[in-house]
Amino acid sequence: MRQVVRDHDLERHLYTHAGVSAATFDEVAGRWTLITPRGPIQAGAVIWAIGQLHRPRIPEFPGTDQFSGRAFHSADRAQWAVPDGMDGDIAVVGTGSSAAQMLPELARTARSVTVYQRSAAWVLPKPAARFGPVAQWVLEHVPGAHRAHRAALSYVGDAVLAPIMRGGWSALPAEWLARWQLRRQVPDRALRRKLLPPYAIGEKRILMDSNFYPALMRPNVELVTDAIDHLTPAGIRTVDGRERRADVIVWATGFQAQQFFGGVTVTGRDGADLHRVWDEWGGPQAFWGLAVPQFPNMYMIAGPHSFTPANSNPLMKDVQARYIVRCLRLAARRGAPIEVSEAAMTKYRAWLTTAMAATVWPQGAASWFKSAERVTNPWPSTVREFEQRLAHSPAYSFTTAPPSPARTYVRSRT
Ligand SMILES: Cc1cc2nc3c(=O)[nH]c(=O)nc-3n(C[C@H](O)[C@H](O)[C@H](O)COP(=O)(O)OP(=O)(O)OC[C@H]3O[C@@H](n4cnc5c(N)ncnc54)[C@H](O)[C@@H]3O)c2cc1C
Repeated sequence: MRQVVRDHDLERHLYTHAGVSAATFDEVAGRWTLITPRGPIQAGAVIWAIGQLHRPRIPEFPGTDQFSGRAFHSADRAQWAVPDGMDGDIAVVGTGSSAAQMLPELARTARSVTVYQRSAAWVLPKPAARFGPVAQWVLEHVPGAHRAHRAALSYVGDAVLAPIMRGGWSALPAEWLARWQLRRQVPDRALRRKLLPPYAIGEKRILMDSNFYPALMRPNVELVTDAIDHLTPAGIRTVDGRERRADVIVWATGFQAQQFFGGVTVTGRDGADLHRVWDEWGGPQAFWGLAVPQFPNMYMIAGPHSFTPANSNPLMKDVQARYIVRCLRLAARRGAPIEVSEAAMTKYRAWLTTAMAATVWPQGAASWFKSAERVTNPWPSTVREFEQRLAHSPAYSFTTAPPSPARTYVRSRT
């Protein structure tokens, strides 16, 4: 990251420790004012790249304040550097991607690891990620090899993983593969039963991991499926009344993903409040996950419905970034702020509703893909389709923001 900053001379543009708490569009000036702890910042355009998975979600259990050990969220990087208790008894709460990735490492050094599972995940084998010396040489020296490799991975994601979200026959090969891995890696029938998800593959995020099940088979690892009742000073007590010791609790419980713009107030044209607009719509929506009517010169990377569970998310963001650059150029050419038109938004919404209905998510299990019954996060198709949908010129979908009376007056005098 430091290298990128150096290579592209970005330092002079960076404001660190400047979490944005509010942004307001000034209709007269046609500019945004962002409120940060370092004071207000003016901007002609705002691109929010604030992610979907960065605000930790930690469940509230009775007794949390009485627990005498260390407890931290899996995303708390500073805590991982502290060795205290990591060779003792560790409780991992959750069995999603983060838990699957950390368990093999923790189990190697801890006295015991207890994994608390609320619902099992479907786990597909991860293709070998090690590159031999020849592959490494080719990727480093052959022009285009790296790009070709990434393109091949993306093709496989679109062709093999994306169809899973539509359920039915298209999901069966993946389900067979996941069941095969479970049978092969977990000989213990009772443990296998606990690890078999009670919902269709694809309804929740699929794990791609070949080391999670073997780690669960280690003698110092226990999988607990009884729900947690409360924390005690020494550990965790489950609803069956059993208490298990813990020196450290790692909350691998995910993120507040469905709350877009949590803790940020965004006020667009005519005083439109982004959260209120989304409440009125019944949930967050943005034109291809990147723009909302009434919010001129404002864009998002990874907005609603633009997270792909089947492919590379950085690729999705590349597509959005390229489109946003075209929007910025269009606004510059027009010499005025632009916003996505209501008509374009309506057309997009109709497409989204149809595409989403063809997936397993609306009727599927509860997950961070949705809030109540409304699907909020995932992209319901392939990355290829995302690219094609965003290949058009924004001139067809974006209009010049209506000028405020004051701005018209200023213009008419100049
Ligand atoms: C454990 C884990 C594993 C993952 N693995 C994969 C994977 O293998 N493949 C994949 O495609 N995706 C994966 N993802 C998804 C991942 O989130 C995205 O691919 C990608 O990292 C997100 O990049 P981003 O820049 O959009 O958001 P983030 O990386 O989340 O960055 C957002 C940034 O915005 C900052 N921010 C937030 N709010 C504000 C504010 N109000 N003001 C100022 N700054 C703010 C945050 O501090 C953060 O620095 C994974 C996510 C997690 C958590």
